[in-house]
Amino acid sequence: MNYLYEITRIANEKFSIRSLKPYQILIMHSILEHEFENKEKRAERIVILPTGTGKSLCFLIPSVLCRGISIIVYPLLALMNDQISKLNKAGISCVCLRGGQTNKERRALFEKLRNGCRLVVTNPETLRTETVLKELEKFRVSLFVVDEAHTIAQWGKTFRPAFSELGEMAKKLSASQILAFTATAGEETLKEIRKVLCMGKECITIEGDADRENIFYSSYPVYDREEGILRLIRSLAKEQLPAIVFCRTRVETVILCHLIHRNIRDLDVRYYHAGLGRTEREKLERWFLESRDGILFATSAYGMGVDKSNIRTVIHYKRPSTVQEYLQESGRAGRDGRASKAYVIISERERLLAEKDQLLSVFTEERCRRRALLFLLGQKKSECSGCDWCSEKVIEKPKLADTAMKMIKKRPFRFDPATAASVLCAEKNPVMLEWPGRTDSMWGLEKENDQELVENSFLKMPELSYVEQGYFKRLYYNKSRVLRIIAVFLTVIVKVRGRLLSYRK
Ligand SMILES: [Zn+2]
Repeated sequence: MNYLYEITRIANEKFSIRSLKPYQILIMHSILEHEFENKEKRAERIVILPTGTGKSLCFLIPSVLCRGISIIVYPLLALMNDQISKLNKAGISCVCLRGGQTNKERRALFEKLRNGCRLVVTNPETLRTETVLKELEKFRVSLFVVDEAHTIAQWGKTFRPAFSELGEMAKKLSASQILAFTATAGEETLKEIRKVLCMGKECITIEGDADRENIFYSSYPVYDREEGILRLIRSLAKEQLPAIVFCRTRVETVILCHLIHRNIRDLDVRYYHAGLGRTEREKLERWFLESRDGILFATSAYGMGVDKSNIRTVIHYKRPSTVQEYLQESGRAGRDGRASKAYVIISERERLLAEKDQLLSVFTEERCRRRALLFLLGQKKSECSGCDWCSEKVIEKPKLADTAMKMIKKRPFRFDPATAASVLCAEKNPVMLEWPGRTDSMWGLEKENDQELVENSFLKMPELSYVEQGYFKRLYYNKSRVLRIIAVFLTVIVKVRGRLLSYRK
């Protein structure tokens, strides 16, 4: 068999893909080589490819060509549904084994396998069922694929023990190749995957370049989180939609969705989390998949592997706990290869915690976000294709910080960051034109600069420890200095009063 020819043919015929990337070909080639030339030994491979690089093709195409059946294990129902609709579209017949099916339904599905269908899509819990395993044992299993394999480490130990038994299951089924696919995996996660799937022994690990060049990484400093997200969403242009906002808790998704809905009426916003019913979630997934300008507030339950290619903006309302999770979630943006943005909202309090948190330090320290993220994965990058730090460097940052500082020194307590930026940039909206601040000597000093950038400079000033927030979120300069002024004022009163008293005597 000419593997390369067959791979390209299937890609073309079934998935309408004309050219494959070199690492995709490399992976598929090695899978097929093992299937047809090295049938004795079992092989285990861990493949790490960033989201949006055609990861699933790497096992779908070989599964069509392999002689036995292929079992693809997904951690989430949403992913199974997504893959099935993709397979249907490609005209590849598959069998979906999941919870809640009757015996009669299952019998029909196994019959389909006997009649030549060669692809099984399932989840660990269903696969563990004795009847399912027994039926599958009757088939020759070529590929045992675990997609989003990092979930083995994430969930296997705690609330989904079936994940830890995947290796055992593959052994029972005498699968000739075990493949683990994931977008990102740190050392610890890799160790766990190896332990579970490869029974602790060394296995081939193929790692692709983790950089997603079309994503612009940006931190978004705020004083008040809710106000910040409102401001950020308001500033998104139509071309920056659809967007997804990742939240840490279910409650957060609901609260924020309502907040945006109340304040920005013409936006189509919804929320999604694992607590919603299955039909509700499926409805939301379909809505978002087709939406061109929607905003979805979601927990990490959404997104993994869901193939919405045109998400333009990913916002992290709160940061995830690891760099891997962050890259996984931000990688939802721009899977179609077009320019997209990923924001992380950073509060003042977090800025102080940055030393103890790797991911926080990426977004708070004065350095390139992309290089810092890749560095934490052990990869190096000499060129940055876009991040807030690299692009702001071009516009003389020190000068801007200077003006901002001068303004706060001159008029403490008068401005909050947004109003101060409006004054400096001479904002043209009618409310500002009526405002008395227009006569301020600082009016329009930075009008060549972008207003958002100016506003951010208030939040990012290097002398940040001198600038604090007073009542009504207004800025003032150096607490001790203000106290000193009050002290001088009080001394003057005491002295004058003393003089007056002695004069009366
Ligand atoms: Zn950069």
